[in-house]
Amino acid sequence: MKRNTIYLSVVCIALSMILICVPVMAEGGGGGDGSGMGGGRNTDVSSILAGLSEIKFILGGLVALTGLILLRTIKINRNIRTLLMCVVFVLFGMLVIMHQPSPLRAVVDPITDFVIGSTITLKKTTALIFIGSLSVIGAKLFCGWVCPFGVLQEIVNRIPAPIGKKIKLPFKISNGIRILIFAISLIMVLITGSDLYTYHNILNPFELFEWHFELVLAVLVGAVLIASIFVYRPFCYLVCPVGLLTWLLEHVSIFRVRLLRELCNDCNKCIRMSPCPSVEAILNGDKLLPDCFACGVCISACPKDALEFGVWRSKSGQK
Ligand code: SF4
Ligand code: SF4
Repeated sequence: MKRNTIYLSVVCIALSMILICVPVMAEGGGGGDGSGMGGGRNTDVSSILAGLSEIKFILGGLVALTGLILLRTIKINRNIRTLLMCVVFVLFGMLVIMHQPSPLRAVVDPITDFVIGSTITLKKTTALIFIGSLSVIGAKLFCGWVCPFGVLQEIVNRIPAPIGKKIKLPFKISNGIRILIFAISLIMVLITGSDLYTYHNILNPFELFEWHFELVLAVLVGAVLIASIFVYRPFCYLVCPVGLLTWLLEHVSIFRVRLLRELCNDCNKCIRMSPCPSVEAILNGDKLLPDCFACGVCISACPKDALEFGVWRSKSGQK
């Protein structure tokens, strides 16, 4: 079973790599100016090779694969996850070559380009497909294991809250705010041609990794990090368009946190230990499930092994 899981994980990651390469190769197949998907076809061999050989996608895929295997085969140890999150932060946050375009731009820019009828570049599309593919393979494998700003918030969330208790935001409210911000941004794109998130970077903390030291960025990042002490991943749940996209993709993810109902004795230890609002909804069988960031806390907290990061089955197909 464990070996099958590893094989399945490797196949899934290989599949995602193929998905990433398809648009690159498709671009290379035709003629044109190399400007992007919306314009002429790309014959610039160097840009094709650059797209294919970007180390960040390979490393990102490997980190996600590691996360998937850890979630599937052993109970995630808090120290191992913390160590991996620090590695991800250094790798994809601090090393400048590893985060272009940022996850936020990878999602927002193609939408903006599409709405205003502009050329969608190969670089941005590849990053978007990478994020989407990982998220389809496993719920939030990108956000939970590869995004540098996501892991930064999660690392800060490990600081004990001065009020003695962490806050779990009601998902209907946090998701409503996230959707509202996205809708306002879309309207803004239609009217002005610019999106809300990157307008003077008022909602774009990823600029932090470009080493831009602006007041607006300092206020945004400072506010998010202070909030992260009290709330699990506040930017992800309340603002991030990538979070919104990957939350939608969670509905079709192959691997997700699953409850094995017959093993559960309703002790609720997983709910008490988990930082997110998702576990309670999973246990209650709610239709509206909050984002699960695949941290594994609930899985390792359960004394009955009643939670797993398993292949999703419809209700009728569940064990
Ligand atoms: S929701 Fe946004 S900030 Fe959070 S992990 Fe995903 S991409 Fe990163
Ligand atoms: S604790 Fe929450 S975020 Fe972490 S794996 Fe469980 S449901 Fe997902």
